[in-house]
Amino acid sequence: MVLNYQNIGTRTIPGFPTNRSLNQESLPADTSVEGACIEARLSPTVMSPQEKAAFPEYAARNANIYLALRNRILMLWFINPQREVTVEDAAKIMEREELMNSELLAGIWFFLSRRGIINHGVFEVKGSDHAKHTNVKGKKILVVGGGISGIACANHLKYLGFEVKVVEAMERFGGRVLSLRMKNGRGEAATADLGAMIVTGLPGNPINTLSKQFKIDLKKIKNECPLYVDGKEITKAIDTKIETVFNKILEAVAKVKKSDKLKDRDVSLGAVVEKVLENQRRACTEAYINHQKRIEKKHEHLYSLETEGSKLIMQIAETNQEIIELEQKDREATDNNTKCIYIYHINKTKVELENFIKKFREIEKKKATITDEIKQLEKNPPPAEFLNFFEYRLLYWHIANLEYANSAEINDLSLKNWDQDDAFEFPGPHFAVKDGYDTVIHSLVDHAKGVPPPGMPKKNGENSGHGQTKAVEFQWGHSVRKIEMKTNKTAVTLRDLSKEKQGQENTNQEGEDDADTTEEFDAVVCTVPLGVLKAEKIDFIPPLPEFKKASIERLGFGNLNKIVMHFEDRFWDDRVDMFGTIGPTPNSRGEFYMFWSLNKKDPVLVGMFAGSSADIAETVCKDVVIRRAMMLLKEIFGQGKVTFTKLKRSEVTGWKRNPFIRGAYSYIKVGASGRDYDMLSLPVENENTGIFFAGEHTMRKYPATVHGAYLSGLREAGRIADKFGKAFYRTNTSEKDDT
Ligand SMILES: Cc1cc2nc3c(=O)[nH]c(=O)nc-3n(C[C@H](O)[C@H](O)[C@H](O)COP(=O)(O)OP(=O)(O)OC[C@H]3O[C@@H](n4cnc5c(N)ncnc54)[C@H](O)[C@@H]3O)c2cc1C
Repeated sequence: MVLNYQNIGTRTIPGFPTNRSLNQESLPADTSVEGACIEARLSPTVMSPQEKAAFPEYAARNANIYLALRNRILMLWFINPQREVTVEDAAKIMEREELMNSELLAGIWFFLSRRGIINHGVFEVKGSDHAKHTNVKGKKILVVGGGISGIACANHLKYLGFEVKVVEAMERFGGRVLSLRMKNGRGEAATADLGAMIVTGLPGNPINTLSKQFKIDLKKIKNECPLYVDGKEITKAIDTKIETVFNKILEAVAKVKKSDKLKDRDVSLGAVVEKVLENQRRACTEAYINHQKRIEKKHEHLYSLETEGSKLIMQIAETNQEIIELEQKDREATDNNTKCIYIYHINKTKVELENFIKKFREIEKKKATITDEIKQLEKNPPPAEFLNFFEYRLLYWHIANLEYANSAEINDLSLKNWDQDDAFEFPGPHFAVKDGYDTVIHSLVDHAKGVPPPGMPKKNGENSGHGQTKAVEFQWGHSVRKIEMKTNKTAVTLRDLSKEKQGQENTNQEGEDDADTTEEFDAVVCTVPLGVLKAEKIDFIPPLPEFKKASIERLGFGNLNKIVMHFEDRFWDDRVDMFGTIGPTPNSRGEFYMFWSLNKKDPVLVGMFAGSSADIAETVCKDVVIRRAMMLLKEIFGQGKVTFTKLKRSEVTGWKRNPFIRGAYSYIKVGASGRDYDMLSLPVENENTGIFFAGEHTMRKYPATVHGAYLSGLREAGRIADKFGKAFYRTNTSEKDDT
């Protein structure tokens, strides 16, 4: 089994370096314009819809001039993303006189920089102060939610010159990016990711840029995945057979998707997969019956030939007898005339005899051919059933894998749109973050707080890593209860959860809770997960527009859970990074359908619960889950090797029951589409203030991922800068995203 997270098949760009990471020394060998544009998710030769909207006069006539300037700026950032690219830097590299259009150059720089296409993450600011140019100083923005989208947004807003505060309900930052650190006896920590774990392709992925800015070590994931069933590894032949069947099913499903019958309605992916399976079963039974019928027909033909042959034998015997009698009569005849007549009859009868013998031989030949054909048919019958029970179990493992990628049951997924984001997947191998994915969060938080990046000295009087801008204020343990958009400001009511815990829920004379405080901001960015929006845990005043409410309802928010097991030593094959296990029935397909072994320093296994098993895992107690996992591992690797005494620590996640997350990530439910992501990304605003939305559930092209959430944060920072800052190009804050 060869496998990829969230995709079936991997697209690669030949020759594009994929393992580029870390520091200056390992800067990419590829410094081509194409490389820079891939990294920026832009075409080197075509302006994106957003670029066209911002620079319409160039889109209409002089796109080449725009692209030449834009591509050079992208190149500077691509070559060294550890230092800010300034307008002055860009001007310096414009060699050709005709390209020197300083107004356009500044416009492009602001466009790229505000949106975080360049100058995002953790980098040294050289002095081009957005605040100075765009007059946003003193504008206060609140970011609700300290997940990757919120932190990316806050960090970028700070760079753009805003005063920013992040409020997080939990006692930690990172949201669905959370790494567990366990004592490993060497004074270090054995890590495992409880939430996001995989960087899905590097070219174009902003996490790749972050990995070059600060030290995050990426480990390439090998995609072989042995499968175990009833304690034994399955053979390559059966593995390949079932994988082929699964791919054919997906091909058949893709054809159904395009059919006219489904032009105006959506159905569930699961229903169509079941229908395709039913058709395959029927086709298989029909093929088997037809095969039997062909054998029967051949037997009938053989029988008729045998009858004909028997008749010919009789005719040969009779004709032979006739010849003997005629020859006798010829010998007895005395006159020549009579003899001549007999000789004529003898010759004629002999010709008849030869014809009979010839026919008989032909029939014998035909009989031999048909007998052979019958033997061949009997030897190679088509399968009497499409798949046997064992093979079905294997097939359902692939369905569990698809359910994992979507954090949803196959029956809940939209046939039409479940894979709408496939075209935007980044190419190349997938990676894990060696020391835990939340190192990315910590680095970004440090930077936003003003801690200079490693190796960069703190300048005199500087209080942040972004020139003179104010450090982001981080507040945790406070949940946002109400967001009220007024004429000039947006008021936010926060609840101090520590006070709530202490039972101080007394209401004061104004009818407000003692644990609640209200603050006003110029704008608010709401990054809470879709699960929280669905549960209506935040009171929006005025209520969210109907189109937004409808999209919140239509999109799905699924579940996915993990068990982390830290053992004393490794009993599994360490050469692989993952192995799959086949559930006893198709319905139990998602329970421990896969174990990851990505930590090569410490013996840590991470087991997965996908589809309906993810919810079930949250309803049973941790001990039961651990016992079931141990039973399964013992079955595969032997009772002696897998013992409870060797299990040092274990954790089971419960993403759905977390009141501030309520699931794993968004998916396209039956009836929903990619447009719902666009709707969720649109701000609610008036001339002076507004509520902006970020988070993985607002990214049509990259939903359900860390990089998608990160990019959504940058997008909203850019949108806010366009709203409050000086215009250097045509702006429209309700434009859709085209990152
Ligand atoms: C088990 C699992 C595995 C995953 N695997 C991968 C993977 O391998 N690769 C990948 O790219 N992605 C993966 N993902 C998805 C990825 O983690 C998310 O898409 C991404 O982290 C979402 O970031 P976000 O900022 O949109 O939301 P979040 O990280 O959820 O941040 C939102 C924050 O808002 C806070 N909040 C909620 N309500 C309030 C409130 N009222 N007031 C204040 N704060 C509030 C929450 O506490 C949370 O911290 C996985 C997710 C899960 C759960």
